[in-house]
Amino acid sequence: MHATIRVGLMWAMGLLLVAYVVGLMLPAHDAGVGAYRGLGLLTMLLPAAVCWLAVSHAGFRRREILLAAAALTSYAAGDSYYYLMVGTHQALAFPSLADVGYLAFYPLMLAALTVTLRRNVRGRASSVWLDSALGALGAASLVAVMINPVLSSSRAGQSLLASAVAVAYPLLDLLLVAAVIGIAALRNTRLSRRLVLLAGGVAVFTGADTIYATQQARGTYMVGRPLDAGWSIGLALIALWVDGIARRERPSPATRATRTSSTTTLAVSGLATAAGLGVLIAGTQVHMSNLAVSLAGLALVAGAVRTHLAFRRLTWLPDLRRQASTDHLTGLPNRRALYAEGRARLTDPQGQRRALLVLDLDKFKEVNDTLGHHIGDKLLARVGARLRGHLRTDDLLARLGGDEFAVLLADAGYDEATDVAVKLRAALAEPFIMDSLTLHTGVSLGIALFPDDGPDLNSLMRKADIAMYKAKASGVGHHFYNGSDEANEAARAQTVQELRTALAGDQLVLHYQPKIDLRSGDVRSVEALVRWNHPTSGLLYPAAFLSLVEESGMMPALTRAVLALALDQATAWAAQGRQLTVAVNLSASSLVDANLPEQVSAMLSDRGVPPSALQLEITEEFLMADRDRAGAILTRLRHAGVQISIDDFGTGYSSLSYLRDLPVDELKLDRSFIFPMAENVRAAALIASTIGLAHILGLRIVAEGVETPGSYAELKRLGCDEAQGYLMSRPVPAVDLDRWLSTR
Ligand code: C2E
Ligand code: CA
Ligand code: CA
Repeated sequence: MHATIRVGLMWAMGLLLVAYVVGLMLPAHDAGVGAYRGLGLLTMLLPAAVCWLAVSHAGFRRREILLAAAALTSYAAGDSYYYLMVGTHQALAFPSLADVGYLAFYPLMLAALTVTLRRNVRGRASSVWLDSALGALGAASLVAVMINPVLSSSRAGQSLLASAVAVAYPLLDLLLVAAVIGIAALRNTRLSRRLVLLAGGVAVFTGADTIYATQQARGTYMVGRPLDAGWSIGLALIALWVDGIARRERPSPATRATRTSSTTTLAVSGLATAAGLGVLIAGTQVHMSNLAVSLAGLALVAGAVRTHLAFRRLTWLPDLRRQASTDHLTGLPNRRALYAEGRARLTDPQGQRRALLVLDLDKFKEVNDTLGHHIGDKLLARVGARLRGHLRTDDLLARLGGDEFAVLLADAGYDEATDVAVKLRAALAEPFIMDSLTLHTGVSLGIALFPDDGPDLNSLMRKADIAMYKAKASGVGHHFYNGSDEANEAARAQTVQELRTALAGDQLVLHYQPKIDLRSGDVRSVEALVRWNHPTSGLLYPAAFLSLVEESGMMPALTRAVLALALDQATAWAAQGRQLTVAVNLSASSLVDANLPEQVSAMLSDRGVPPSALQLEITEEFLMADRDRAGAILTRLRHAGVQISIDDFGTGYSSLSYLRDLPVDELKLDRSFIFPMAENVRAAALIASTIGLAHILGLRIVAEGVETPGSYAELKRLGCDEAQGYLMSRPVPAVDLDRWLSTR
């Protein structure tokens, strides 16, 4: 029914418009002026009718549609009055009641555009507002030039009211154009197809107004020329736009995150700046109104601010990386940096011997417990500095975390490593004098040699660790890894065997941790984290078994098992009416499997789960390791409708341009940035920039590891989209999550 009326109205609107335009183009129709005016009036009434039909379809909560309908109605009402009056009196005084209707169109239409703008801009960074302001100013300065003749022609003998009304039209037109350009500058791709209708409509409408006003000012205007159809065409296009937005569902917050393209950003700010510049330059040659010059100046200022912001965003990235690879307590490289740098050193130069030392302070826990963290932290910083002082510059020293340090010695075999171990132990045996305290520490060292004990940093690390525990347990100070420590190796082989059983059976379980929307407080997605329900050791966390899974080539199998569990759970939630997106972690090696996209699609369709209910988290490290491959696999997954999230963001080395080109929906800011944000102004500033960057790229940003109400509030203030962390909930079994969700 509704559809039939809609089609009928559209046809009527189109046909009458064509008839009207054709009629106006025919020569000599003086006799028929009245009839043409009648036709003209109909072409104004029909767009209003189309809008009211849209209101009835979309409901009153869509305020922008209601406002637009009111705007078009008001214009048509003004025109009706004009038609009736001209019929009786030949000429109508200016201004008249008709102008009230015409003029009321503007504020109503501007209000409709403002609502549209606000709806699309919600949750976006200030830079987006700036883009749209910049676009608006640039366009406004151009329009101001065009309406110049009208503004400067105040005819003698005209009443003040008449002059004011005459000037009001072009000024309001200018606002209208500015608002439309502002919306266009938001670069919302979903909007842009319809936006052509709106922009075209407003352009034709204001164009007609401007030409009319110019002709009026020069006294050359004549009724019954094609110009008269300009308003009707403009209103019809606007009505089509209203019809379009009414038929689109109100954008849900989840799907609203649209990608922005930096090319359009550049185009808008470039064009707007050029427009402003052009107006200013032209102003030096011909007379230009103050309005045009001021608007052009403002456009240039906004352009400069915009460029400055973009530039600042580019320069902080290296900072972010440095922060990510530095241990903030000691200023030494952290574990991550050791891995990144250490891997490179093992392969280059080739054939060089190396030794990896893992150091663990003795009795550090007691210092911490009896004297407090503050003293403990200070001690760690001093230990770090002292170790550094006893090493050569090309030895790589890092703090692994807690009271553990590691050294990768350059060009060292058994003898050299022994010398260094003895020297470092002696160095740490000297007491530390801090404030009025004298602290004694000691250290246990485990050593693994390259290439004898292992071909890569992972295996060296594991072996040096085993050796360190041996040293600690026997109290010998330092210990070289050797084959007899391989009791552990046998245990390891057994664990691998157990893991195979676990993967085949039902020993893997998932815990779920909610991500909270910081604006609404809602939970729309959860992250699935794997646990191993070991038959004798109890519940094991990923740290205890994932590296073994990886080393023994079982990662693709684990990924499939986890995906199956997560999607089963998603199905169960959907059946209970809970709309939850489940995020599953993918490791680099699970993506070796080129069939993954097909497997994922098949698993989704088997269960009837929509692809949008699945999110895949991938670390930056993987993305950078094999760009082309990663890009290709991710593109296929995303085409299938699955959301892609970059995990541990900020810890890797992805370049800005690369991120922009990747098919990604979300960034998860690593928890190492969130922990220090309370005390560290610099960390907070980095987070703010990262949030800004994510929004510029049209990405959602999620903070991980939110543990305190303070950081929660701060992240919310900074415009971060979602938060995940122990403060809200630890990862818990699905039943517990259900309970948690229900009691919120
Ligand atoms: P991730 O992807 O960064 O996962 C978040 C980890 O942070 C989880 O540890 C979670 O318990 C922990 N976490 C959450 N909130 C907080 C907080 O407020 N404070 C602190 N300190 N930690 C918090 P979990 O479950 O031990 O997982 C560790 C890592 O194991 C994950 O890091 C992920 O990289 C990996 N992982 C977990 N499940 C899977 C899986 O199914 N497949 C693969 N490939 N990797 C997985
Ligand atoms: Ca994750
Ligand atoms: Ca993470």
